[in-house]
Amino acid sequence: MNPAQSHPAFSVCVYCGSREGVDAPFFEAARQVGQWIGSRHGQLVYGGGNTGLMGAVASSTLKAGGRVVGVIPKALVDKELAKQDCTELHVVETMHERKKMMAERADVFLTLPGGIGTFEEFFEVWTWRQLGYHNKPLGLLDVGGYYAPMMDALQTSLRHGFMNDWQMGLISVGDQPSRLLAELVQAAGLTPGADLSRI
Ligand code: AMP
Repeated sequence: MNPAQSHPAFSVCVYCGSREGVDAPFFEAARQVGQWIGSRHGQLVYGGGNTGLMGAVASSTLKAGGRVVGVIPKALVDKELAKQDCTELHVVETMHERKKMMAERADVFLTLPGGIGTFEEFFEVWTWRQLGYHNKPLGLLDVGGYYAPMMDALQTSLRHGFMNDWQMGLISVGDQPSRLLAELVQAAGLTPGADLSRI
């Protein structure tokens, strides 16, 4: 058995779109994230769907040899096409259960481009961090400047005194999947396994 299958070196919770978006870079970035996780003995924790960027991250993690933990509410099994070949697929009763299990199973959180579900997940886990409910590193993968307007809005909030620099300092923003993932895993005090794709 591949070592990643029994004892993953690290566990990344990825939040991302249940759609692909209309530009190619999003899909490719999702694929690279999965490839990085899978090829370094890692585990992906995600929403368990097989559509959009979610499906892309999960498929490429599996293909690269990693573990995939999918957590999906019963009501979304058909709508988001639950990915049946996950290493672990958990069908839970509610969205709250899903979010709790995803957060518990993660060492770090990484948000890719997505829609309102993704935004909600990103902001929730960030607010949990600012309140001290967890101490896990948070990353935002800004593919093709997708999150630039959101970062501008956050700077506006900062300027008007609704947040402080330390809250902004809780998130790592980058546009290179491998660099950002390495930074997050290291910040969690973990070491990625050797890159299996290079062996
Ligand atoms: P989206 O970014 O809208 O494509 O959604 C990405 C993922 O977020 C999907 O798996 C949705 O089921 C999930 N999602 C949607 N709404 C919520 C919510 N309120 N809390 C947590 N996840 C959600």
